[in-house]
Amino acid sequence: MTARILVVDDVPANVKLLEARLLAEYFDILTAADGFKALEICESTHVDLILLDIMMPGISGFEVCERLKADPRFAHIPIVMVTALDQPADRVRGLKAGADDFLTKPVNDLQLISRVKSLVRLKTLSDELRIRAETAQNIGIEDMLKGMDGRDEPRQVLLVDGRANSQERIIKALKPVANVMAMSDPQAALFEAAENSFDLVIVNANFDDYDPLRLCSQLRSLERTRFLPLLLVTEQGEEEIIVRALDLGVNDYIVRPIDPNELVARSITQIKRKRYNDRLRVNVRQTIELAVTDGLTGLNNRRYLDSHLRTLFNRAEARGRALSVCITDIDRFKQVNDAYGHDAGDDVLREFAARVRATVRGADLACRYGGEEFVVVMPDTDAVAAGVIAERLRGLIENQPFVIRSSGIAVNITASIGIACNAAGAETPEQLLKQADKALYEAKNSGRNRVVSAAA
Ligand code: GH3
Ligand code: MG
Ligand code: MG
Repeated sequence: MTARILVVDDVPANVKLLEARLLAEYFDILTAADGFKALEICESTHVDLILLDIMMPGISGFEVCERLKADPRFAHIPIVMVTALDQPADRVRGLKAGADDFLTKPVNDLQLISRVKSLVRLKTLSDELRIRAETAQNIGIEDMLKGMDGRDEPRQVLLVDGRANSQERIIKALKPVANVMAMSDPQAALFEAAENSFDLVIVNANFDDYDPLRLCSQLRSLERTRFLPLLLVTEQGEEEIIVRALDLGVNDYIVRPIDPNELVARSITQIKRKRYNDRLRVNVRQTIELAVTDGLTGLNNRRYLDSHLRTLFNRAEARGRALSVCITDIDRFKQVNDAYGHDAGDDVLREFAARVRATVRGADLACRYGGEEFVVVMPDTDAVAAGVIAERLRGLIENQPFVIRSSGIAVNITASIGIACNAAGAETPEQLLKQADKALYEAKNSGRNRVVSAAA
């Protein structure tokens, strides 16, 4: 894991110490002796994680943290505050400033390395999502997604805790900021977490006869809960458990006795991070959808057809099943544009797509192949059945005039359709499409508004 870590401390001996320990783990290290220098470095180069001293002359660690977290260019860089003051109040202040974690001086080696590794791993995931999402930003769907970050949605926490009195304390502490559902049976909790959408799972390692890390590991391996933040509550001195937990992918831990403020701050930090990553994931998914969708009609586009037809074709061949394709081309569509304008033409295309969609089954793939051509791919459909479906579509187009939205004018439209079935001997998806296209050509030449089947 190569990551570039910026160590910020005004005492050179402290910098040297951290630098040596991290270099031993093959991290790439940058150093800064004060906050201004740290901000400068962030401006000028790429940084994966910051270890930040709090008490420094000029500008304090809190302020450096606040400034970085307020800047969208740097907000995603994890910050670990390193402080001599082991005061809950400082931790809370740091977490409020946006710090992702804390280490106290003298820094414990195990904690340093496991925390750094865990944060670097998380950042690698966010970075990948962020890069993909940038493409989405470039084509303008970031705006579309604004307001769906769920900032106002109540935070949902699942608490897995073997003891009633500690459940009560945690519920009370989190009450002002989150809805908490408490469970004492870890197996039941696993199902609950997988079936519902929580923002955070808190696992209290206080079971008499159950290894809490088993639950953490199961939550990490299930598809549905893979990205759900996990916060472990442990006893003072249980370092080995903590290290193993962080290795398993637990996101954070808190040591008993629990400081309510710290619990709130850590929970909110985790939930914020999860919602940010969720948003990036939605964004990436939408980009992909956008890339395979036709903007005018909402059907899949040709790019999607080309790749998906191959899959369907190969599958049909492997299973010895029928597969038919149908190509539809609107008759004399140019005349619609010429007579009523291009926008009216677009209206007709949208309505046409709606009728295509209404004709096909769920398993069929309908797409806009280009201009006024549409293709439907029908798995498990032989030439005869395809002919019936195509004829139904042809009738649906001819029998009901198309109404232009702006003018209310009704226009009569017809379409010609060519169909082909893999049973006729096509060896590739391209050949199958070509056969259907030839049939369409025949339909046009023999008078339009008709269905022609490729010769078997
Ligand atoms: P044919 O019966 O032989 O198919 O005649 P046609 O006029 O439909 O065929 P042609 O291929 O000559 O013309 C297709 C027209 O479709 C030309 C083009 O302007 C129009 N067209 C293609 N894409 C769009 C679109 O997105 N919106 C609109 N309004 N028109 C489009
Ligand atoms: Mg046409
Ligand atoms: Mg055409």
